[in-house]
Amino acid sequence: MAEKCTCDPAEIMIFPCAGGSNVGQLANQAAVKLDQEGVGKLFCLAGLGGHVQSIVESTKVAKRIVVIDGCPIACAKATVEHAGFPVTDYVMVTKLGVKKHHDFVWTDEEIERVVKAVKESLGY
Ligand code: SF4
Repeated sequence: MAEKCTCDPAEIMIFPCAGGSNVGQLANQAAVKLDQEGVGKLFCLAGLGGHVQSIVESTKVAKRIVVIDGCPIACAKATVEHAGFPVTDYVMVTKLGVKKHHDFVWTDEEIERVVKAVKESLGY
């Protein structure tokens, strides 16, 4: 297990892919929960992808950059890296045993599985 992260939650930025599938939206739901629990800060992947200056500048303060992708196409990871930032913590929802589909149905347990994987990566 990774060492416990000692960063301030504001220094931990979480970028979910928020894609158009159950797993993409699960990534987003997990990121919302992690933000609500004070683990890190859900941040704007679209702004980073668009190289929006204020979003890029805000991302520079991050000490940990958590990326949650829904599936192996790995869009959020590609977006963050394309903007020039390293991904320090990476979780892919399909790797956690959730099958990708387009019905936008998921369970609390699946959200919790993703939340747990991110926390483990951060050393919780
Ligand atoms: S990683 Fe998969 S689920 Fe997420 S946006 Fe890309 S294709 Fe969609």
